[in-house]
Amino acid sequence: MMAGIIASQNGKKVIIVEHREQPGKKILATGNGRCNYSNKNQGLENYHCKNMKFVESVLNEFSQKDMTEFLEKNGMLTKEKNGYLYPRSNQAVSLRDLLVTLLKNNSVELMYDTECMDIKKNGEIFNIKCPDKIIKSRSVIVSTGGMTYKKTGSDGSGYKILEKLGHSINKPLPALTALYCKEKIFKELKGIRVDAKVELYIEDKSVAKDTGELQLTDYGVSGIPAFQVSRFAAIALHKNRKVTVGVDFLPEIDRKTLNKLLYGNELNIRQKLYGLINQKLADVILKHTGISGDLSVYDIKKRQMDKLTDTLKEFSVTVKATGDYEHAQVVTGGVDVNDINSLTMESKIINNLYITGEVIDVDGLCGGYNLQWAWSTGYIAGMNC
Ligand SMILES: Cc1cc2nc3c(=O)[nH]c(=O)nc-3n(C[C@H](O)[C@H](O)[C@H](O)COP(=O)(O)OP(=O)(O)OC[C@H]3O[C@@H](n4cnc5c(N)ncnc54)[C@H](O)[C@@H]3O)c2cc1C
Repeated sequence: MMAGIIASQNGKKVIIVEHREQPGKKILATGNGRCNYSNKNQGLENYHCKNMKFVESVLNEFSQKDMTEFLEKNGMLTKEKNGYLYPRSNQAVSLRDLLVTLLKNNSVELMYDTECMDIKKNGEIFNIKCPDKIIKSRSVIVSTGGMTYKKTGSDGSGYKILEKLGHSINKPLPALTALYCKEKIFKELKGIRVDAKVELYIEDKSVAKDTGELQLTDYGVSGIPAFQVSRFAAIALHKNRKVTVGVDFLPEIDRKTLNKLLYGNELNIRQKLYGLINQKLADVILKHTGISGDLSVYDIKKRQMDKLTDTLKEFSVTVKATGDYEHAQVVTGGVDVNDINSLTMESKIINNLYITGEVIDVDGLCGGYNLQWAWSTGYIAGMNC
């Protein structure tokens, strides 16, 4: 939609082929319906790509500041919470509807319930194959998204269309999703939310970590810290590598301080843990370390106390899978950035074909980074097509 708005403002005749009954369905689902459209902290560390210069070039061309200015210029106030940017209305639908209005005001033709099945190029002309017609055009922008939440319309068809045209597609895998773990203990931990640090290890080597509100579920860990590291798990599991997670239930205190707290007074161990962590979590940990909650720390064997502190500071579990595409916010993988010119978003394989958004092999963290990627790449393609 962003590409269509900009191209039409530049005098191009634009047709949008949308196979759902309305455009921007995924936008409606973003930010829990509030649309976290971008983030004030646009640092590259929030993105994953094999060529960060590519990402930098795109974001410099149309930044989070540019997106906010674009919205405000078009009458939409925005708001910020800890750097996260939202429409002031708190409604994703208001942002989506603004984009549709801008498309209509610029005479863009919107074809709904129309699937693009294939794109072929004959000489200088593209033939865009739809179920009951072929659209002819001198340039084409592919903005088909990834393949999460298929009911929003992104079903992975863009990868196939672009692969047929000669682009390299790096294996798409789900990202920003939960981690499914082997351990049976999760059945007892279900429903607990804690502030914790999650550290992901591949073959025992730490590759990513994040701290925030972690949700313990009957299958494993979910919530933002799990989401942020999940892409690494998906890639490693796809290569049959061993993936483990260490959860630190007390990230703000070191082991020495923890020991002081545990040994510092006469309370029984249950009461001590209740002062530090969620009660249900404390009860499950005591049960699994075989410690009676009524005991004083001085009556507990050293071996058991060590196991207890290990569990509090590095509860280590094995990841067997990530959430699937229906439970992931984005895809990691997609069109290799070597096939795209970052200054124009034009394919290096096919002239006058442009590629934007999530279908490209760039994925951002939670926090507005993936939508910003869609706006920035869409803007550049719209300017250059
Ligand atoms: C639940 C959820 C919450 C999210 N929350 C956030 C958030 O708060 N902030 C953030 O930055 N990101 C968020 N994301 C990620 C973000 O929504 C996507 O990265 C972004 O929408 C990608 O934009 P896109 O234009 O590339 O693709 P999409 O938004 O997926 O749009 C692609 C469009 O192309 C259409 N299409 C696909 N194939 C065809 C075809 N063959 N023919 C015709 N039409 C086709 C689809 O119907 C769709 O309308 C969230 C994702 C999910 C699933």
